[in-house]
Amino acid sequence: MSSWEAQLKATIDPVVRRSKTVDAIVVGSGVLDQVAPLLTAHFGATKVVLVADDKGFDAAGQQVEALLARAGIAVTPHIFPADPRLKPSVENASDIVEAVRRAGGLPVAVGSGVINDLTKYATFQLDQPFFCVATAASMDGYASAGAPLSDRGFKHTIPCAPPRVMLADLDVLANAPAEMSGWGYGDMAGKLPAGADWIVADALGIEAIDDVAWPLVQNNLRDWLSAPTAVAAGDPQAMAFLFAGLVISGLAMEFHGSSRPASGADHQIAHLWEMEDVAFGGVPVSHGACVSLGALSVAALYDWLLTQDLSGIDARTIVGRRAALATEEAEIRRRFGESNIALRSLVETRAKYPDDTVLFARIEHIKAIWPTLRERLAGFLMPMPELRSMLRQAGVVTDPLQVGISRAHHKDSVLAARFIRKRYTILDLLNDLGLLDSAVASCFGPDGVWSPTDTPLRHAASGS
Ligand SMILES: [Zn+2]
Repeated sequence: MSSWEAQLKATIDPVVRRSKTVDAIVVGSGVLDQVAPLLTAHFGATKVVLVADDKGFDAAGQQVEALLARAGIAVTPHIFPADPRLKPSVENASDIVEAVRRAGGLPVAVGSGVINDLTKYATFQLDQPFFCVATAASMDGYASAGAPLSDRGFKHTIPCAPPRVMLADLDVLANAPAEMSGWGYGDMAGKLPAGADWIVADALGIEAIDDVAWPLVQNNLRDWLSAPTAVAAGDPQAMAFLFAGLVISGLAMEFHGSSRPASGADHQIAHLWEMEDVAFGGVPVSHGACVSLGALSVAALYDWLLTQDLSGIDARTIVGRRAALATEEAEIRRRFGESNIALRSLVETRAKYPDDTVLFARIEHIKAIWPTLRERLAGFLMPMPELRSMLRQAGVVTDPLQVGISRAHHKDSVLAARFIRKRYTILDLLNDLGLLDSAVASCFGPDGVWSPTDTPLRHAASGS
């Protein structure tokens, strides 16, 4: 075993031991050969339902099927068409439930984000464990205890158990389209502003930082992000660490019981676009690309916030001027109509709307701790231009125009994102301080990061 493989094992193994649901994560070159022994050892399986889409079946499914057949394990394939791209919906998960009920056997998901999420949800309905063969380091959901699926139009994370055993063959991951590892890198980069959001919520006494989940993600994050060009080139070592980081982030969510350790306002902006089915050239924009753009949006807001001196803010004036709950509700209906997004946003927004006394005390508290909090955030965050340059090197989109999201649409999404979740983020902090509009106006103004005349279209990057 090479030194980096030993290091990888040393990172993953203690996390797996701590997990109540994941028994094994096997990452390495040529490990696909272990699929049958692992199935036997962990499940005693003699019969499986292989869930994949056409692309996943070509990438590894066929090989898995042959290896299992050779080991005397019966395989019923359940293959979705990959074109048009498979949707992460409750309806598609129900198809898997039916297929497994019909054929019987252990579900084996061969694929990346959508296939894994659908199988995860389906097996939870069936009260069965499952096995996952990863085909790309494209997102952090492999090991998370939840599946972000759309249920009649509203995307939310439905609690369900991760695969009991996960296998990632680096030769398979390296053969995935290069843009897919860029998406994984983008999803990973979101953990930086998401961490800042958690620092804020912790400092305000709203949601304490968790001693287990925080270090799992944040203590290694800069290492996982340190080699964007190697990720873009499909370097096995870089892919292994990216995959490990994504999987460990998922497990951190499992330990914490929510996605807070890995998702903040960056993901709220991304989810908004995903729920709108944002597409470019007819292809849905990937989760990782949306998170990359969400992360940069939030990083830019933090850059702005860190330049502010909050000592002159008058809490009474802000409380007096802020939008009443009824106005917030009207704003939600104006933006989202009567959709499920609107209904969900009303619930989430009501749940976090502070009364006047709470808001007054919160603003006073922010003013009092701001010099310390600002220093802590500045030490933690990476300036937006630096993050953007790393994301560019990883080959993921860094400007919404590249995926057809106009400046006006982008700006509007940043303003709307706080409604969809009660989780406290920089968007709420800015809103509580009466500064959200100024911060957004500055980022999108003539001298802002996204000035209307900025950045021509560079390249298209979309997909699953
Ligand atoms: Zn994500």
